[in-house]
Amino acid sequence: TAEEVAQQQKLLKDENIPYFQFHFSNYTGRMHCMEEAADLYQNFSKSGFGVDGSSIGFLSITASDLTVMPDPATFRIGNGPDGKFGYGWSFLHGLDNQPHPLCVRSAMRRVVEKANRMGFVPEMFGELEFYLFNRDGSYMDTASYTSLPPEDKGLIYRHRLGRMMLEAGVQPKRLHHECGPGQNEIELKFQPAMKNADDMLRGMWLAKLLADEMNLVCDFNPKPRLGIAGNGLHEHTILRNAEGRNLFSGPHEGLSDIGLQYIAGLLKYARDIAAVFAMSDQTFERLKPGFEAPIFAAWDFANRSAMVRVPKILPGTEDKTRIEFRAGDGSGSPHLLSVMILGAGLKGIEEHLTCPPRSAERDFDHVTKEEAAAMGIDMLPTTMPEAIEVLRNSAFCRELLGQPLVDALIRKKQAAMAGAAAPQKH
Ligand code: GLU
Ligand code: MG
Ligand code: MG
Repeated sequence: TAEEVAQQQKLLKDENIPYFQFHFSNYTGRMHCMEEAADLYQNFSKSGFGVDGSSIGFLSITASDLTVMPDPATFRIGNGPDGKFGYGWSFLHGLDNQPHPLCVRSAMRRVVEKANRMGFVPEMFGELEFYLFNRDGSYMDTASYTSLPPEDKGLIYRHRLGRMMLEAGVQPKRLHHECGPGQNEIELKFQPAMKNADDMLRGMWLAKLLADEMNLVCDFNPKPRLGIAGNGLHEHTILRNAEGRNLFSGPHEGLSDIGLQYIAGLLKYARDIAAVFAMSDQTFERLKPGFEAPIFAAWDFANRSAMVRVPKILPGTEDKTRIEFRAGDGSGSPHLLSVMILGAGLKGIEEHLTCPPRSAERDFDHVTKEEAAAMGIDMLPTTMPEAIEVLRNSAFCRELLGQPLVDALIRKKQAAMAGAAAPQKH
């Protein structure tokens, strides 16, 4: 609101803050920043300011001029090495001053508004998995899942990252060493869905920033090395009603009809979701047997080979009933990954889909394509050309993202195929 913005302007003045960093994301998940004189914050919050869209990959879909429109709800003050600064997220508008068709935060806002219209308040959290390498590309340690020092060399890094996140309003929930050598994970707390998408991107940026400071390289790619665990970007969802009641909780082994329909939507549109989030060939190296990454669009309770996992609900914890989507990765935009997950789940509810039976304790690492097909279970795309075909033919993606964004993603995927670095041998 105008009042809120006026207060923010006053705060910037009172604190003598010289610059405001307007953060935004392009549709491939790359984060950008324009710094402006802080005394102009209030003006910019009204009418935005222009940047060169063509230089952040926006081609001339409508035109190359973009308007950065601040989102005052995300206003923060940070403390840098040379003093205080202001920062916050922005939407991207076109010359017509409407949300730009390639703006991922606008796409996220639309799907959250759709959820609200259906009577839902969506909460999500992401699990950030990444490798830390030494500058020369060697592993920074040889530790494994939940290792302690001295094998684990990442403890201080994780603590410092946790602190940086808290200062930036990102809420870490658990920090640990993951399976691979030098692989780490920071799991976030539940937040409103838009804040979670923002926090995932900001968290990934902070992780890279800190690694660089500590002379390390932080890698969120889905499969940096063949033969060891990949990096997933798992996301958990809860739909609540306006009073805060968990709408996934119910009588079917702990799940409600809405919960089952949400899962059914994730299964039905799994190939479309994968076709969107995959921005690198490495996605398809990760989605292979042997490393806790899914291959088939199946669901179960505590089963890490299933694409959708419902963490077991113990009596008394019904309020925490949540649905985890495990196929996603960080090769593209975490906002678009969230849009696809939420969009698919909502579609399942809208279409009153019947949820297929869960694949009780089935280890999908040892299921063939033919066996899955006989059970009526889809296989996720296995190559970038296949993903591009899925995306090209998906009415669901067109409806959710719009044709310009679908076209732009296809172009980027084609470019990634032509030029991308393949994963290195172990
Ligand atoms: N690293 C695994 C993946 O690629 C996930 C491991 C886990 O369950 O946390 O998805
Ligand atoms: Mg993990
Ligand atoms: Mg997980």
